Amino acid sequence: MVRRSEKIHGWAATKPGIEVVPWSYVPRPLGLHDVEIRIDYTGVCGSDLHKLKNDLGGTAYPIICGHEIAGRVVSKGKDVADLHVGDVVGVGPIAYSCLRDDCKFCGQGLDAHCPHAVHTYGGIYPDGASSQGGYAESVRVRASMVFKIPPEIDPAYVPPLLCAGVSVYAPMVKYGVKAGDRVGIVGIGGLGHLAIQFASALGAEVVAISRSSAKHKDAIELGATRFVHSENREETRAIYNTLKFLFVTGDCGTAQLNELIHLVDIGGQIVILALSKETLELEPFILAVKQVSISGNLVGGISMIKQTLEFAAKHVNEALEHANAGRARYRLILEN
Ligand SMILES: [Zn+2]
Ligand SMILES: [Zn+2]
Repeated sequence: MVRRSEKIHGWAATKPGIEVVPWSYVPRPLGLHDVEIRIDYTGVCGSDLHKLKNDLGGTAYPIICGHEIAGRVVSKGKDVADLHVGDVVGVGPIAYSCLRDDCKFCGQGLDAHCPHAVHTYGGIYPDGASSQGGYAESVRVRASMVFKIPPEIDPAYVPPLLCAGVSVYAPMVKYGVKAGDRVGIVGIGGLGHLAIQFASALGAEVVAISRSSAKHKDAIELGATRFVHSENREETRAIYNTLKFLFVTGDCGTAQLNELIHLVDIGGQIVILALSKETLELEPFILAVKQVSISGNLVGGISMIKQTLEFAAKHVNEALEHANAGRARYRLILEN
């Protein structure tokens, strides 16, 4: 346990790049509503790499990344009622939101969008302290952003669920993916391997779409019923106008989007989850003809993260273990 004024040791980037070195910091005092977590596992998310390299600007060094955290509560503030020392818990990308009823975002479960939200690393708390993430031995976080891990799930598999998992499951719930729907998943990586499992667990007929034939076997193992090579015109044409939903989890440029839109059935929904910096162009005419909607998604709020963990405990855990997919093949997880 780290006591007040003791340091938390971790691995930080001190300059732009993916090299991290041992570094320690004095954490902010444990507040009445905070818990301290001894970290057992942390996932390495694509966002971490962007932050480490300062791809989007604004990274303040040194920085300890990591926002897919699993561990145990080792101490808690006086006003924390729902969590206890020893609880096995997880933390996702958001460490603090205002959670006021009169907040336009928090009031409707969109706490990840709260203007006062503090990212688990690289953020600034209202008291001026900066947040540091999970490539470390411990972390201090607002208890409302800490989630009990259902006993059915091995905590080692939990980190990717807290960011990638909720990012793919939240829009499936929002748009009502259900049994029998035909769902396309583009890209089979950190997001895609979970998207296939969640959609399949919802009873959907999943078509995995990838540039790499090497992913064919994995996609089927994860629950896809069909694999389509995205650069094979014959294969893509065979599924034109058949998908009710299309989740784009891999980098997608204008050319790919203009091809992928043909796979979607009239009135279908495209959700672009891969956050490339490329500008996408579409002729409005194709939207008129296809009547499709295109949207994005920003992780999920507190209730969505809880739902994701509960759903995964019931349906996804077995697949994760079976395919060993929560491990390095699709998601690198650091173990303390
Ligand atoms: Zn992430
Ligand atoms: Zn708020």
